[in-house]
Amino acid sequence: MVMGTTLEVTVYRPEVQTLQALADLEAAHALIDAFDRSMSLYKPDSDIVALNARAGTGPVSVSDSFYDLLAASNYYAKLSDGAFDITVQPLVELWGFYRNTRQTLPPKDDVDTVLKRVSYKNVTLNEENKSIALKEGTALDLGGIAKGFAIDRAIDLLRSRGVAAALINLGGNVAVFGPAPNGEAWSVGVKHPREDRLIGRIRLSEGAVSTSGDYDRFFEVDGVRYNHLIDPRTGWPVPGLNAVTVVAPTATAADALSTAVFVLGAEAGLSMLEQCSGVYGLVIQPGQNSDNFIGTEAVFSVIVTPVPAENTSVSIDFTDEFSPAVQTASMGQARPVEDCIPLR
Ligand code: AMP
Ligand code: MG
Repeated sequence: MVMGTTLEVTVYRPEVQTLQALADLEAAHALIDAFDRSMSLYKPDSDIVALNARAGTGPVSVSDSFYDLLAASNYYAKLSDGAFDITVQPLVELWGFYRNTRQTLPPKDDVDTVLKRVSYKNVTLNEENKSIALKEGTALDLGGIAKGFAIDRAIDLLRSRGVAAALINLGGNVAVFGPAPNGEAWSVGVKHPREDRLIGRIRLSEGAVSTSGDYDRFFEVDGVRYNHLIDPRTGWPVPGLNAVTVVAPTATAADALSTAVFVLGAEAGLSMLEQCSGVYGLVIQPGQNSDNFIGTEAVFSVIVTPVPAENTSVSIDFTDEFSPAVQTASMGQARPVEDCIPLR
């Protein structure tokens, strides 16, 4: 257990290097654990808690990697027009998602008051001296991007240690490189949003897959589900989608973009993905008709961005049962407008 979820690391080396492979696992775990100690809001001596405590007091120097993570967060906030915004911390707190403390809705006035403290524009980055200044009242929550960022750094570490191929899965954020042992592409399952089974598979030879879902953390009032993904523009949990899965060249991009698409919704979200080269995704949302797929609780539909035929390193496939519910939708944007990967 690390970063509040389960960490799974698989490495491949030639048979004679079994001890090195064990050491690789230890090293990847230790690195991700160190990121957890630095970026967790649950650890009172973490860097993020210290930074939040200094909001309004001027620039604070941070480590290079911490700076890179905040720079990436800022990049995705701009790219998504503020849908992805790490300054949602006071809203996540108000909605009780840190300790699942809430069974009722917060008063509307409280939401509006807290919302005034939320904007990525309240974070000032200074590249030259690697410092961050938070406006008074601002607090950061890296939960939408930190797992992806930590995985990318662990993948870099495994590569530099001479690992031939690897997979890291940190609570549904997955990154892979190198040839899988059977010589085929790696395969990452796409979960049914309400049942313990898969609706499809993503095959990729290198890169990352991340999912944001309404089933991770939520509570219900009068039969309505309020989930932990919060719209920074309204202050309310985002209604409408069940899950978003994004495939991208880096885990940081996949993680931030899956959170962003969830907030933007199917149309705006998928058209944002289409502006990013090498980035694909799908949304699962409530369905309306018999063409859609049926779970025990509800009916769902799926929209997926097309993967161009010339890209032979990624495919997104659905099981026979679910594929009739899948629509392939091109939002009509030419790619690539952006590369969507500010950092490796
Ligand atoms: P993920 O599962 O990667 O989509 O991350 C969800 C987590 O990101 C939540 O539990 C919050 O900690 C945080 N979060 C919620 N809403 C947002 C948002 N609009 N932008 C960035 N992070 C968010
Ligand atoms: Mg995310």
